[in-house]
Amino acid sequence: MTPAGASELDEFALIERYFQRPVDAPWLRLGIGDDAAVLQPEPGCELVICSDTLVAGRHFPHHSEAADIGWKALAVNLSDLAAMGASPRGFLLNLSLPEADHAFLAGFSEGLFELAQQFQLALVGGDTTRGPLCITITAFGQARGGRVLRRAGAQQDDLILLVGDLGGAALALQRGASADAALAQRLNRPRPFVSAGGLLADRAHAAIDVSDGLAADLSHLLRASQVGAELDLDALRLHPQLSALPREEALNLALHGGDDYALLATMDADNWQQLQKELPQDLAAAFSVIGRIHGRAGILAIDAEGRKQPVKPSGYRHF
Ligand code: ADP
Ligand code: MG
Repeated sequence: MTPAGASELDEFALIERYFQRPVDAPWLRLGIGDDAAVLQPEPGCELVICSDTLVAGRHFPHHSEAADIGWKALAVNLSDLAAMGASPRGFLLNLSLPEADHAFLAGFSEGLFELAQQFQLALVGGDTTRGPLCITITAFGQARGGRVLRRAGAQQDDLILLVGDLGGAALALQRGASADAALAQRLNRPRPFVSAGGLLADRAHAAIDVSDGLAADLSHLLRASQVGAELDLDALRLHPQLSALPREEALNLALHGGDDYALLATMDADNWQQLQKELPQDLAAAFSVIGRIHGRAGILAIDAEGRKQPVKPSGYRHF
């Protein structure tokens, strides 16, 4: 509960106006308006749930477009669900707002629901308070029983697959206002690989999404799986605008920059062959093989001349 100023919408009017949308979903027994939501997952499915917080001034600049903030708050969660091989269904929204600013709320909800509608996601509840601008979304989805993809599970000789390209968001951050619109989109409106996640669920041994940089996130997967990796630097798919940079600098952004929301997965060569036959054309272009799992801990990068070098697992760190 939040006491609202006389000129502002009260909390309930605000929720009704900006966030309560008609939902027609068989799994949703009760949505916004009661003390809690009631969900009924499909028989044979497990509920997969994750949560991410965006803090103004830390995860996005204070002057960001409200619509971009709404989009991104949901996108980062959908990327996590995709990395688990789950199919998203809905989400909760916890909003801390300095004031009930109409322009902000209109923009924010527009960006949020633009992405939500692409995957027919329902907003089923949340909380609204007054405070510094901070957005937490808790998203949930489902996966057929026993089919979730974990970070643990990568096996010796698995191929390492990348879905998406790397370094665009980090370059956009570096360029700031001088980034062109296409590049800025990478940072402000990441496109989570939702359908790729569903396809990987049937084939991959392990997966993770790349949010803190390839080196850091691959290291998490390797540690959880207790294996190591050889990374083929020339096979890394970089954002097109990185090709204008010196090679060293481009690789640094690709390996250690954050906010890409690409997916990493490992699978054996037979499964990769099968998966290639199943991939729709538009998605096939996003997949590439960037390395191989081996038994020794850590990441070894291999360049065009076959030279091997250890890669530091550094990425974005909050603390
Ligand atoms: P309570 O006081 O019981 O926690 P609230 O008054 O906080 O309930 O919220 C009333 C209803 O509105 C609840 O169903 C809650 O889930 C929903 N709600 C609150 N804030 C939001 C929001 N930002 N987005 C969507 N639903 C919300
Ligand atoms: Mg409440």
